[in-house]
Amino acid sequence: MEKAKGKVVSVNESLVGVENTEGAVMNGEVAYITIEDGKRLKSEVIDVKPGKLVYLQVFEDTSWMKVDDAVEFTGLPLAVKLGPGILGSVTDGLQNPLYELAKKEWFLERGMVVEPLDTNVKWHFSPEVKKGDIVTGASILGSVPEKIFKHNIFVPFSLQGEYTVDSIVEKGDYTIKDIIATIKDSSGKVLELTMAFDWPVKQPMPFHQRSVPTETLPTGMRILDALFPIAYGGTACSPGPFGAGKTVLQHSIAKHSRADVVIVAACGERAGEAVEVFKDFPELIDPKTGKSLMDRTYIVGNTSSMPVAAREASVYMATAVGEYYRKQGLNVLILADSTSRWAQALRETSGRKEEIPGPEAFPMYISTLISAFYDRAGVEILPDGTKSSLSIIGTVSPAGGNFDEPVTQATLLSTGAFLGLSRELSDARKYPAIDRIDSSSAYPSLITEDEVGFLKELLKEGKTIASNLLLMGERGISNEAYITYQKSELLDAVFLQQNSFHPVDGVTNPDRLRMMFDMVKHIIDSPVYAETKDDIRTHFNFLRQAFIDWNYLKIEDAKFDSQKAKILNLVKQTAHAKENV
Ligand code: ADP
Ligand code: MG
Repeated sequence: MEKAKGKVVSVNESLVGVENTEGAVMNGEVAYITIEDGKRLKSEVIDVKPGKLVYLQVFEDTSWMKVDDAVEFTGLPLAVKLGPGILGSVTDGLQNPLYELAKKEWFLERGMVVEPLDTNVKWHFSPEVKKGDIVTGASILGSVPEKIFKHNIFVPFSLQGEYTVDSIVEKGDYTIKDIIATIKDSSGKVLELTMAFDWPVKQPMPFHQRSVPTETLPTGMRILDALFPIAYGGTACSPGPFGAGKTVLQHSIAKHSRADVVIVAACGERAGEAVEVFKDFPELIDPKTGKSLMDRTYIVGNTSSMPVAAREASVYMATAVGEYYRKQGLNVLILADSTSRWAQALRETSGRKEEIPGPEAFPMYISTLISAFYDRAGVEILPDGTKSSLSIIGTVSPAGGNFDEPVTQATLLSTGAFLGLSRELSDARKYPAIDRIDSSSAYPSLITEDEVGFLKELLKEGKTIASNLLLMGERGISNEAYITYQKSELLDAVFLQQNSFHPVDGVTNPDRLRMMFDMVKHIIDSPVYAETKDDIRTHFNFLRQAFIDWNYLKIEDAKFDSQKAKILNLVKQTAHAKENV
C-alpha cells in the first residue's frame, strides 16, 4: 500500500498542522517530517480533521521546522521493539538508547535514529518448537538467557490465527536481526521471525488470564510494608508538594523492592534527577543477586527540557515494556515520576488544539487516560500457570500541593494505595513524609490486620493528644495521655521514619520488619514507671535513641543483640529525669 504524504501548514511548538496531500491518514500513526537540513523528526498523528487537515505531535525540537516541509506517514502506530536487551538499558520515550550518550551528553542530536536494541549482541538461543508444530501469537519459540532471567522468544503477539512452524534454527548464538524461525499461515504464506518484534505502546497487551492482587510487594520501606502496602500487580499514587520526598521515595523503592524487574520512568522532572538515576544505578549492587542493580532495571528518561510530547511517549514505552516482562513470567514494577508532567503535556497539546477544556484546563479525557494507564497493571496467570505481575507506582506533583486538582483526583480513583506526602512532615524532616493518618491501602500488609489497626489507632490518639498539648500545654493533660502521646511519637520516630540514605536503615527486609514491629509493640504494651512528665519524656528519649542506634546496626553486627538487650532493659526501668541529666 502506498504511504500517505503531506506538507506542513502550521507549527505551534510541538503541535504541527499538516495538509494531507496523498493517501489516507489514521489517528495514532507515526509520521516523519523532513526539515531543511534533511533530518527526519518523529511525530504521531493525534487528530484527523474532516477535510485534509491533520495534527501531529512532534517528539523532537521543532525550532527549524517550516511551512511546506515534507511529511511522510508510516501507517504504523507508535511502537516499542520488544526482545532481549532491554534490561540494563536507558532510553528516551522513543526507545533511543541514552546510556552511552548520557555519559557524555544527555541529549540525542535531533533527528538522529539509533537502533532501539543492540543488533550486534549474540544471544544464546535454545529452540523449544520443531518443524510442523502449530503456534499462535505469543507462543514460545525458544529462549535466551538475559542477565539473570530466562527470556522467552515469542511469536509476535499481534499475529492472529494459527501458523505451522516451517523452520527453526538450531541451538546457537544469534543476533536480534537473524531469522530464527519461519512460520506458515493456512494459505501457505511464509513469515520470517527474528527474536524481536514491534508492539504498539498505547495498546494494552491482553492478559492471558487476569487475577486479583493479593500478595504484598515488599519495598524495604517500613511505613509502606506495615501500614500502606503495595501489592504485586497493584497500583499506588504518591502525590505531594515540591520537595516532600516523592523522588527519594521512588528511588528507594526502585533499589530495594522485591520486584524482579524495575522500570523507572523519569518523565519530565528536573533534568539533574534523571541523570542521577543513570549514574547511581549501575554502581549499586542488588543484594539478592550480587549483580549490578541495572541488570534488573530499565530506565526510560525524559527531562523537563525535552519536548512535552516525549513525556507521553515515555509513559507508554515503560508500560508496554512492563507488560512484556510480565509475559516473561516476572514481577515487574513501574515507577513513574511524575505523572503530572505527563498530564501537563496533554494539557499543553490540548490547549494548542483549542479543545474544550475540563477542570483547571486539563482535557476532559484526562481521567480516562489515567485510569487506562493504571489498568494495565495487574496479576497475570500465564498459559503454563505461572503467576506474574505488573505493579505501578506513580507520583503526582499538584501545583501548591493541593490534592483536589484533577490529576490527583483521577489517580486516586484509579489506584489501590494512596501515599499522600505531607509538607508538614517533610518540613519536620519526618521522612518518608507519607501522611500517617490520611494515607490508605487496599492491599495486605506484612503485619496482621489487627496489628495495623493497633498502630493506626495509636497514631490517631497521639495526634489528638498532640493538639491538646498545643492548646493546653503539658500541665493540661494527664500523665496517662502524655504516655500515650510519647508512645505514638516513638512509633513514628523509630519505626515509621526511615533514613533512605543510610545503608542499613534505608532498607528493612520482611524478617527485620517483624522483629522491629514486635519490639515497638512490646514498648507500647509495657507500663511506664514514671511520676512526672519530665520523667516520662526522659524515659522515651532514651528509648528512642537506643532504638534508632539499633536500627543503624546490621543484624550480623556483634553489637546487634546487646543493643536489643539495652532497649529491653530500658523498657523495664523506672525513669528519673533528674538522675539522668
Ligand atoms: P520531590 O520529588 O517531592 O520534589 P525529593 O524526593 O527530591 O522531593 O526530596 C527532597 C529532599 O528531601 C531530598 O533531597 C532529601 O534531602 C529529603 N528527603 C526526602 N525523603 C527522604 C528520606 N526518606 N530520607 C532522608 N531524606 C529525605
Ligand atoms: Mg521529584
